[in-house]
Amino acid sequence: MRTPLIAGNWKMNGSASLVEDFGRAFPRTVLPASLDVVILPPFPYLDMAQRAFADTSLELGAQTLNPLHSGARTGEVSGQMLREFGVRYALVGHSERRQLYRENDEAVHDRLLAALSVDITPILCVGESLEERDAGHTMEVVLGQVGYVMARLEPEQRPRVVIAYEPVWAIGTGRTATPGQAQEVMAGIRKYQASFDRGLAAGMRLLYGGSMNANNAAELLAQPDIDGGLVGGASLKVDDFLAICQSA
Ligand code: PGA
Repeated sequence: MRTPLIAGNWKMNGSASLVEDFGRAFPRTVLPASLDVVILPPFPYLDMAQRAFADTSLELGAQTLNPLHSGARTGEVSGQMLREFGVRYALVGHSERRQLYRENDEAVHDRLLAALSVDITPILCVGESLEERDAGHTMEVVLGQVGYVMARLEPEQRPRVVIAYEPVWAIGTGRTATPGQAQEVMAGIRKYQASFDRGLAAGMRLLYGGSMNANNAAELLAQPDIDGGLVGGASLKVDDFLAICQSA
């Protein structure tokens, strides 16, 4: 009953020609309609991506957004602007934003509300560092990040959120969480959501992220609580990304 979702986070990578390549490689017939596929390119490519993806199965996402609709925020982009380019999803709380741009839980929550206010589906990213895992604090860290946001949402807002579990030690390292490790944490997230509402927990989409690739995707996506993937490096190659989508 949960539609699988594969999201390609290009980060600060890609090019105009890669946008065109993806537009050509994903005609509607190539993937089943029962799968949501999203590409999150850097902002300057959104305009051309909207046109290049018009007749494809690809939807558009943004890697971040500012909490405000407009104003004196040099260098920032608002959800309202993203909507003008057909953006339907936005990452909030990616570990690179938390670490490099000091976005704390409050900043993540503000961005998530901004996304919801313009009808963009937020993908809330959570995950523990290697030190936190080794110290046995994985669930505490992950549920702390999930709980900060979820507890502050209205009941009707909660089902509109997608959660991506991305262990920080697996991002861009080639070291993927084992399917068992990922499933354990994601079952914990779903159980926690059930404390708000059982229907919410059953319907909420949970993605795994961290060195997902064409070789390990099928086994990860076969886990009962993994409904999709947030793919970084492997989303920059058309064939790899297509293979991941086909294994969902
Ligand atoms: P990766 O990145 O697939 O390159 O590990 C995932 C992410 O950061 O979303």
